[in-house]
Amino acid sequence: SAGALTSAATDSSKGSLRILQLYPREMNIYGDYGNVLVLRQRLAWRGYGAEILEYDIGDTFPDDVDLIIGGGGQDSGQLVIQDDLQAIAPTLRAHADDGTPMLVICGMYQLFGTVFRTHGGTDIPGIGVLDLETRGGSDRLIGNVVATSEEFGEIHGYENHSGQTFLGDGVLPLGTVVKGVGNNAEDSSEGARSRNVVGSYLHGSLLPKNPAIADFLLRTAAERRFGSFDDTGLDDSLAELARKQAGARPR
Ligand code: GLN
Repeated sequence: SAGALTSAATDSSKGSLRILQLYPREMNIYGDYGNVLVLRQRLAWRGYGAEILEYDIGDTFPDDVDLIIGGGGQDSGQLVIQDDLQAIAPTLRAHADDGTPMLVICGMYQLFGTVFRTHGGTDIPGIGVLDLETRGGSDRLIGNVVATSEEFGEIHGYENHSGQTFLGDGVLPLGTVVKGVGNNAEDSSEGARSRNVVGSYLHGSLLPKNPAIADFLLRTAAERRFGSFDDTGLDDSLAELARKQAGARPR
């Protein structure tokens, strides 16, 4: 529930960021919660603290949130949260417009768009933070993904979805797929970028294998909160190894 704070027992001499995880019960599959753990650990290594807040259905939206994270979920989970999500939509839109960094994966990525028309024929309205829409299909798109991007270099992850997402003019793709499918079976795009929001189909979780995306989120949050960010280089050799191994696998 909101206010359920878990503070990392680490050095936080440079200050602390408040990271909000949306709907951890319904929207958290394939290890997506690992994204929050990566953010907390990278902050700790650099002398910053993290307060992990969880937002569940019916909670009061917490104040002073620096970073917002949402994970994947099955269509059934998306149906469960849809009304509550509409209730907090104005707050999420205000955060996005204000520049709060956000990372939304798969099921939550779909709901940050305008609509998800499920394979079952139900329209789940999105919150319109991202200019995109999703249509459920009969095929599940499953496997390892490699995408290229100018902003973050090569992006590695794992996809498992039946919804196919089509980008409008108001967003850029996060990357271009060179292995796997990404947003849809037609245009090789993967994910979406707008303001400081990153949307992606990629689980894994995403951030352990993609420190460039993690550091973008942290730098943006810290600069907004503290005016600067000490982004001391970290030993990312394990992430590099994981990327190499994942990249060498067939889809
Ligand atoms: N239910 C959505 C789909 O299958 C999202 C699945 C997910 O988050 N992995 O398209």
